Amino acid sequence: MPKTSVIAAAAIACASAAAIFVGAEKGKPAVPVKATVQGDLGYRDTALIPGQRWKVHDIDRPRPAAVDPGAPGTQERASRPPSDAVVLFDGQDTSRLVWPVKGWKLENGYLEITATGDSLATRDSFGDMQLHVEWMIPPNPKHTGQMRGNSGIILMGRYEVQVLDSYDAATYADGQAASMYGQFPPLVNASRKPGEWQFYDIVFEAPKFEGSNLVKPPYVTVLHNGVVVHNHQAFVGQMAHRIHKPFEAHGPEAPLVIQNHDVPVRYRSIWARRLTGYDQAE
Ligand code: MG
Repeated sequence: MPKTSVIAAAAIACASAAAIFVGAEKGKPAVPVKATVQGDLGYRDTALIPGQRWKVHDIDRPRPAAVDPGAPGTQERASRPPSDAVVLFDGQDTSRLVWPVKGWKLENGYLEITATGDSLATRDSFGDMQLHVEWMIPPNPKHTGQMRGNSGIILMGRYEVQVLDSYDAATYADGQAASMYGQFPPLVNASRKPGEWQFYDIVFEAPKFEGSNLVKPPYVTVLHNGVVVHNHQAFVGQMAHRIHKPFEAHGPEAPLVIQNHDVPVRYRSIWARRLTGYDQAE
């Protein structure tokens, strides 16, 4: 934009909004911010962005809410969730879980599958979500193949991202750690050793149905220990063993399930964020 236009636009902007409020967290006072450079706060004389109701650099476009991003975990310490996360398990509190669960125990700041029993489910239901889960196969797993630390993150109780020891252990590709079970292997094997904490960061888009017809499949993007292993990949059906299980229509939200597959696996720091559209009010 030519300099004269910038000045003119900034004059319009500043005349209508000498100061705006940004960076406000819920429950905290907003911080007034004054423009130090003309045009910093936006414009009202610019072109519409194609497909949007906002102009380029629109001064009236809502500023995104501020979020404390938390902190990554280490082998010794679980991650600290973002400030707007739904904390499903923090190492102690099981109030957001259907708990107790047969075959699970809570000690030392983690949940552990100890015996054949039931899968773990959240009380909350989720559709589109960001999910963080930290997990560990305990040292020296006894079994091989699919019994070597098998568990799973089952989104909406139907779509599984596999948990397994795949550090130096063979099984079928679409059933190894971080696979979309029975459908797609991970792009790479980013596994750590048994006895080391690992994590998944999952971005999940829920399927959409019209009546009994699927109109949009569920998609996942998965990072395993920070490495992209699925990049916006669609599930092709529900989780199943040795068969293809077609989609069955369900509601827009459902609980998250963590699989009990009869062998020890530990979990700590489980949190979710419901995903919303752009331009939400602060
Ligand atoms: Mg599994």
